[in-house]
This record gives sequence, C-alpha cells and structure tokens, in this order.
Amino acid sequence: MEDLSFILNHLGEDRTKYFDAVTPPIVTSSNFTHNTVEAMRKAALDEQHHYWYTRGNNPTTDLLNKKLAALQGSEDALCVGSGSAAVSMAVLHCAKAGNHIVSVNNPYSWTNKLFTLFLNEYGIETTFVDGTRVEAFQEAIRPNTSLIYLESPNSLTFDLQDIETICKIAKSHGIKTVIDNSYSSPLGQNPIELGCDLVVHSATKYLSGHSDLVAGAIMGSKEDIAAIFKGPFMTLGGILSPFNAWQLLRSLRTLEIRLERVSQTTQKVVAFLENHPMISEIWYPHSPSHPQYELALKQMKMPLGLFSLKLNTTNPTAITAFCESLKYFLMAVSWGGYESLIWPAIAAYSGARTDLPINLVRMSIGLENADTLINDLNQALEIAHKIDTNS
Ligand SMILES: *Cc1c(COP(=O)(O)O)cnc(C)c1O
Repeated sequence: MEDLSFILNHLGEDRTKYFDAVTPPIVTSSNFTHNTVEAMRKAALDEQHHYWYTRGNNPTTDLLNKKLAALQGSEDALCVGSGSAAVSMAVLHCAKAGNHIVSVNNPYSWTNKLFTLFLNEYGIETTFVDGTRVEAFQEAIRPNTSLIYLESPNSLTFDLQDIETICKIAKSHGIKTVIDNSYSSPLGQNPIELGCDLVVHSATKYLSGHSDLVAGAIMGSKEDIAAIFKGPFMTLGGILSPFNAWQLLRSLRTLEIRLERVSQTTQKVVAFLENHPMISEIWYPHSPSHPQYELALKQMKMPLGLFSLKLNTTNPTAITAFCESLKYFLMAVSWGGYESLIWPAIAAYSGARTDLPINLVRMSIGLENADTLINDLNQALEIAHKIDTNS
C-alpha cells in the first residue's frame, strides 16, 4: 500500500492541470467537450474513465475515488451520495431477483430496511444470523445465496464478525461478500486484506469528520466497481456532488491526525468510565471486557471513538438528567465528527427501538480535550447518581 501521508496529501493531484494551484479545484461542470468526433466516440464507450457527464465521472470525484481506493487498499473505488447509497449499490450488484442474502444481525437501521422492506419486494430474501458465530453463516447458506453481508463491528452494540473466516466460507461457495467498514474507517481495518469483495463506508462519519456533508464510498476490484458503475451507479444516479467530493478531499488531509487523537482520547474516556460506579457496562471492541476483544485485536488496526455504555440505573429521570447535564457532549444522531456526541436509547423509546436497554447511551468521541470530556461526564454522572439515590 502507498504511504498514508502521500495518499492523503498528494496522490492523484496533478497540479499542472489546474494552473499549478496547490489545492484541487471544484469542477462543477455537468458535461465535458471533445475536440474531435473520434475523441467523443472513445469517451462514449467508457464513461467511467473519461470526462463525459458528471453523473458518471468528474475530475473532482475522480480524484477522490483514487484516494479512496488507495486508502482502503482496493483496486478501485466510487464515491456516492451517501453511505446508504453505497450499501444499496453494492448489495444490488451482488443480488438479483431469486437470490438470497445472508446478513449479520442488526446491521445499520437503513441497511436493515433495505433487506426487509425493499429487496423483499424485488424477490430477494434475507436471512439474518448471529454474527459472533461463524457457523451461523455456513448454516444459513442456500443454493441461491449470492451475498454475505457483514458490518463489523456494528455501530450500536459493537459485535464483531470473524471477517477472514467468513470470507473464506463465502469464497468456497462462490458467494460475494460486502462489509460496512464505517466504524473502523480505512485506517482502522482492511477488509480487502481479509478477503472481502466489496467495502462500503458512510463517508459522512470519520472520512468527513466535520459533520458538514453526507457521502458514501464503495471499494473493490476493478471488475466489481466497473459493474457497479454501469449498473446501479449510473441508473440510480445517487452521485456525490463535486462540491461534497471536494469537501471530502479536504477532510482527508487530516484523517490520520483526527483518528489518532480520537483513538487516544477514547481510551482515556473508556478507562475513566469503566471504573465509575454509575456505569454498569461498556460495549467497546477494544475494551478487555468485550467478549470478542481478542478478535478485535486480531483484525482491527486501532481503537476508535464510538462505543455504548449502560448507566447503572434504569430510572428515566436519572438517565434523562445525565444526558441533559452534559455540556460538551451534544445530543444528536450520526457520529465520527469533530464534536463529541451522545445518542441515548431513551430518546428512541417512543419510536422503533423499544428493544434496546433504556439505560443505553451511545457515545461518539470528538476532538475535544480528554480531561474536558472526562470532567463533563463526571459531573453529569454525579447528578444522575444524586437523583437515583434520592428517588
Ligand atoms: C451512518 C451510517 C450509514 C449510512 O450512512 P449515510 O451516510 O448516513 O447514508 C451506514 N452504516 C453505518 C454503520 C452508519 O453509521
């Protein structure tokens, strides 16, 4: 793989093409001209590798694609309009009417809906299995299974799958594998090395890191990416705009230092929480108490910044007070941005997620100072504790 700092800062940047400007331009043009009929004919035959029309290829998104592929160590990549677009396009490439999908339990909520509400209507059935058991994938395979879908770890309970073993099983049956690698980012896990065919990301999260754009990425072989380009990508048209692609190029410059900071801070925060009497459980792959800690060490490259905890109370007033007393952690969905966040399950209780423990709080660690975050958590836990013991 290329040197990471080279990928983030220089790969693909041919500055002579844009006035020797240091920073690549945002090319917003929807279409591109050709000087000869022959040149136009050539471009028409291969829209993926020529500038023809921006729903297909565009200099700004093209540059991003090159960096995304190099980052994940894949042959090729496509940026798309959202993480969900990346998931849908990769899955549609691997499953046609009459096919069967084996998916890990509890994937990202809209991925779950893609399988259960959407693809069902198109004659594609999905079986969900306990991802912590390799045999569960083996047992669920049918003659018409065309895809095994993974998300390791998932972004709420942080269960892992043994990626390498499951991909070997899939290959031996001629089944494609797709993994949602958003949690780890390309720096934290390389599913391509572990044998996965296609890797998808919500680039809205760590790849962006600034909570100011929505984007997705698909990485895989030249052959798979070309087929996705000609198929779901061009027909569904869920592209990333050149402006958002440029924002991502800018975000990538700091990917390594952002994630290093997040990783270090998170380990300090988790260590503090693990020893706090108001916390009953922490769900974090790199915590030695995680049941799959060894697997995390084996297949992940670094600890990241998203985890869930359970407060040591089920008193809704105390849980609510904890959430509302935090001054630095904002209450919002999404994760992976510069800002620390909480997503309390109690806020979802009137909605779909009554299956979650009421005292579960998911935390995303941002770029703030570790001591600032720890002090903030400490004072909010004290408030929750007082309410809990007084009621
Ligand atoms: C957010 C997220 C998605 C969806 O990505 P969008 O960019 O919001 O479409 C998919 N998978 C995971 C794990 C996510 O966290």
